[in-house]
Amino acid sequence: MMKCPFCDNYFTIVIDSREVEDGTKTKRKRKCTKCEKKFTTYEEKAVEVKDEYKHDINN
Ligand SMILES: [Zn+2]
Repeated sequence: MMKCPFCDNYFTIVIDSREVEDGTKTKRKRKCTKCEKKFTTYEEKAVEVKDEYKHDINN
């Protein structure tokens, strides 16, 4: 859940969405339903498991 950085309201709507950094993240423009301020978030698309992969190589 993305909360509003201005009033901590959890109810926000997405008004624009596009991929950045080779598609690994999504940039979203959001608008707070409470104070109606607009803000931008960068959200990870997938959780990576690189640490576990390294562990397998060392064994
Ligand atoms: Zn707000």
